[in-house]
Amino acid sequence: MPRMRRRKTKYEPARRSRRAPREGLAEDAIYDRLLAAIFEHRLPPGTKLGEDRLAAIYGVSRARIRRVLPRLAHEGVVTLEPNRGAFVAKPTVAEAHAVLETRRVLEPGVVERFVQQPDRKALVARLRQHVAAERRARAASDTRSIVRLSGEFHILLADMAGNLLMAKIMRELCSLTCLIIALYDKPSVPSCLGEEHAEIVEALAAGDGGRATQLMVQHLEHVEENLDLTVVESGPVDLESALD
Ligand SMILES: [Zn+2]
Repeated sequence: MPRMRRRKTKYEPARRSRRAPREGLAEDAIYDRLLAAIFEHRLPPGTKLGEDRLAAIYGVSRARIRRVLPRLAHEGVVTLEPNRGAFVAKPTVAEAHAVLETRRVLEPGVVERFVQQPDRKALVARLRQHVAAERRARAASDTRSIVRLSGEFHILLADMAGNLLMAKIMRELCSLTCLIIALYDKPSVPSCLGEEHAEIVEALAAGDGGRATQLMVQHLEHVEENLDLTVVESGPVDLESALD
């Protein structure tokens, strides 16, 4: 399962960036640029990521590219195929529908549990802060933060609902959704419609589990409707111009 939120802890960006000017881009910078290019649809699903070309584009050794690609594979956004190389991941339409279907089954349980929490008021205050952060990201048209924060809203909710197994499963489902949204969201619409999160929070604040459930299911239907899962076979992508 992809792990979209852990990468910052494993590396030492300060030391690497000091070396960067002499040796071309640092690993973390290459990683960030490739991830952004995938999330911003400049590198569509299925694009081949040739080591030689990436090494030339970033002015680094192939060895450095070979260290970056498995990190992207670990997060599920790149697949590594023996003897063929690395490609931008391409979840199937069936996989995308299965993920959203599972969430529509699970998340009503999350909100029903949430409204029963004794410290609901404090939890709602935290959710409101999160929704405010989402608004700021949208106002700044910060695509990567929008996608990340949208997923984190649902993870936060599951964490607060107090069932650890539910929270763990939601984390995996949200990572998968984040990838699917990144790859398949229609470019003109945001991944999670932010005011829908705000409406869910207000229903939770009122302790209205029925209303929160209804809003959550509608919200997940909208997320699925906003995916463009029609398979478009684009021609070979020009890596140099996509990553420029
Ligand atoms: Zn959402």
